[in-house]
This record gives sequence, C-alpha cells and structure tokens, in this order.
Amino acid sequence: MQSTFLKTLEKLGVPRNPDPDNGHNLGGSTTYLSVDPRKAIRSSSASAYYQPNAHRQNLAILTNARVAKLNFEPGSNPLQAIGVEFLHDGKTYLSKARREVILSAGSFQTPQILELSGIGNKKIFERHGIKALVYMSTHNGPTPTEDHVKIFSIYEIDPNYETVDDALDPEVLARQKELYETQQGYLSSALVSLFAFIPARTFAFEQQLSEWKEKALAAAQDAPPGLRKQLILQIEWFLNPEAVEHQEKPPEQKSAQLALRRENTRNITNDLTKTV
Ligand SMILES: Cc1cc2nc3c(=O)[nH]c(=O)nc-3n(C[C@H](O)[C@H](O)[C@H](O)COP(=O)(O)OP(=O)(O)OC[C@H]3O[C@@H](n4cnc5c(N)ncnc54)[C@H](O)[C@@H]3O)c2cc1C
Repeated sequence: MQSTFLKTLEKLGVPRNPDPDNGHNLGGSTTYLSVDPRKAIRSSSASAYYQPNAHRQNLAILTNARVAKLNFEPGSNPLQAIGVEFLHDGKTYLSKARREVILSAGSFQTPQILELSGIGNKKIFERHGIKALVYMSTHNGPTPTEDHVKIFSIYEIDPNYETVDDALDPEVLARQKELYETQQGYLSSALVSLFAFIPARTFAFEQQLSEWKEKALAAAQDAPPGLRKQLILQIEWFLNPEAVEHQEKPPEQKSAQLALRRENTRNITNDLTKTV
C-alpha cells in the first residue's frame, strides 16, 4: 500500500522525497521510525539515552524537579551560566555547574526559563518584577517557536487492503498480537508509515496563491528575522515548486536550479522591501 500511495502522489505531480529532513520537505516520504527491528519496541529517550548510560557514575537524574532559573557568574560578559536553581519536594535547591549548563526544556519552556533568568523582553520583566540581565526586543527575544498545522483527512479505502481499523475485530487483533511476538504485523511498526507535504500548486488556484503570498508578505513585515526568513522560504516554495528538488540531478541542472532559487528569493525579498 505504501508504494501504491507514493506512486499515486507522483501521478498527481507530487514528487517522492527520500530525505524530508534535508531542508526541502515537499513530496511524499516514508516516516522515519525509531523502532528496534529485533524487538519491535519503539525507542524513547529512556530506552535510547538513559538505559545504555544508567550505570555511569557521572550521571544523576532527578525527577519531579522544576528548574526555576539559571544563575550566572556575577558581572560576566558575555553571561556565563554557573548553575541552576530548581524546586524539589517544596524546597529550592541550587545546583552548581563545573563546566556548562545545557538548557533544553522544549519549545515553550526554554524561552520561559531564559526569561525567568533575566534574558528577554523588557515588558515581561517589568510586569513580573524580574531582574533583567540582557534585554532583547520582541523581535529577537526568546519567543516560543511556532506550532504547525496538521489536517487529517479520513477516507474509506478498498476493503481488499487490511488496515489497522480491522483490529477493532477481536479476532484480527489477537492475530496481530501473535504476529507481534515475532516482530511482524502492523503492531510491530508505526501506524503512520508515510506522509506527504504537497506543493501548493498541485491543489491551489493562482488567485489563492497570490493571496497567500500577500498575506505572507504582510506577516513578514513585522516578523523577527528568523520568522521572516521562514516566510520568504514558504513563499518561494508555494509559488515555485520547481525550486524544490529531491532527485539527484546532473551538475549543470543542479546549478540551474540553484540559480532559479536565488532569483526567486531575490524577487520575494524585493517584493518585501517594496511593501515595508
Ligand atoms: C503530539 C506530538 C507528537 C509528536 N510525534 C513525533 C514523532 O512521531 N516523531 C518525531 O520525530 N517527533 C515527534 N514530535 C516532536 C518531538 O516530540 C519534539 O520535537 C521533541 O520532543 C523535542 O525535544 P526536546 O528535547 O527539544 O523537548 P521536549 O521533548 O519537549 O523536552 C523538554 C523537557 O523539558 C522538561 N521541562 C520543561 N520545563 C522544565 C522546567 N522548568 N524544569 C524542568 N524540566 C522542564 C519537560 O518536562 C520535557 O521533559 C511530536 C510532538 C508532539 C507534541
């Protein structure tokens, strides 16, 4: 079914993309899976990172602890993080770092911890009485990254194909569980095995495309630099799918494609300058 789906997409003008993480995600791709093929168990942070290192003497993990802020070397410039303040069992603790502090609290809490530590937006510091160490404007401050839209479409499919819906039948489920014991059947894999980012030109009208372009240009005007770059790239992608290529091409075609991308980006940036 996987190859049928990818072939169908190709017939509709959606190319295959063997490497959707290469910076160009348009096209049909198979999902990366972190499933151990020997045991059919999905990998997680615990199985991939913690368990193989659990025995290490220099590793300590404290659960149910909430980081309140980072501490910095007084007067350091640039700021040097020297520890972390955290709450555990209703008490505040201070953990000192000998070498470095790695902050990786996810898309939303990472900028929040920076703000609690005095790095960020002046307005937020004033509102919450936080001692400021580094000001950043709303334009380049640690704001959370964006969410992305996901739309699910549900279709009835040819009953000759067995799908996971069939597992609603207890007999089918029992058979799949048996298969799972030998790392077979769909329980041993991911339920979502492929996906596609569809080029806008394969489903949208010209007018819609130009409306989207106007909207994206308007949004880019006030956007922080990173988001602005992203919006320019988005415009390029939905206007010029030829600029996005996945298959290996002969060098001369590759450089023509690169030239086209550069020109597109230049044109969009010019449009943006005109509207600002
Ligand atoms: C519903 C959903 C499904 C997804 N499915 C997939 C998928 O199938 N494949 C895929 O590749 N990606 C998937 N992703 C994306 C993936 O989960 C994230 O990209 C990834 O987890 C980000 O890792 P991270 O370490 O940066 O942050 P996170 O995984 O968010 O880890 C941040 C950690 O910091 C902790 N934390 C936050 N604040 C504090 C604090 N003050 N003190 C102490 N700890 C704190 C949090 O509890 C959390 O454990 C999915 C995401 C979502 C929401």
